[in-house]
Amino acid sequence: MALQSVCVYCGSSSGADPAFGEAAATFGKLLADRHLTLVYGGGSVGLMGRVADAAMAGGGHVIGVIPAALVRKEVAHLGLPDLHVVATMHERKSKMADMADAFVALPGGMGTLDEMFEMLTWAQLGLHSKPCGFLDVAGYFQPLMTFLDSAVDARFLKPEHRTLFVIDDDAVRLLERLSTHRAAPLDKWIDEADR
Ligand code: AMP
Repeated sequence: MALQSVCVYCGSSSGADPAFGEAAATFGKLLADRHLTLVYGGGSVGLMGRVADAAMAGGGHVIGVIPAALVRKEVAHLGLPDLHVVATMHERKSKMADMADAFVALPGGMGTLDEMFEMLTWAQLGLHSKPCGFLDVAGYFQPLMTFLDSAVDARFLKPEHRTLFVIDDDAVRLLERLSTHRAAPLDKWIDEADR
């Protein structure tokens, strides 16, 4: 599917390794260069701010979605021409999901994982078929991938659902893979043994 917009989930902190911020800026610029709209959480802090600033500096279209309660905490990016202030976290998540053709996680904490896993879970349920990618900066997501493999071994995650996790350490290649990614047929997500 030809992508037109990408939702990026990433840390509201910058992280310990300067490589995280550099990758966020590179990714924002890449989206602008590809004329892909960036949909993100609307903050100006941490990696969120880096990705948005770089996309805007590159002439890209950026849409921020932030709950009113976080406007001060995450320092809503007032430079955004398209900032949606919504009432709740849930409204934020569903608005971001609706506006994007694909989801990408850059390094981040609980919020990043919560948002990305919700999109992956919805894909597992067949509620959408939008691709989900992880940009693996400095090996940040490797322990998560190892955990997912152990979840497959433990039979809590089906191998076909494991393929929903597209991961790459190269941003250009990741976008390429997301635009050609075909969701596996996901009609049976309950283990037959548990019926
Ligand atoms: P973090 O990765 O923890 O720095 O958070 C990244 C972003 O996720 C921030 O904008 C958080 O406000 C956001 N976030 C955290 N928890 C949730 C949630 N339950 N629903 C939606 N966004 C969240």
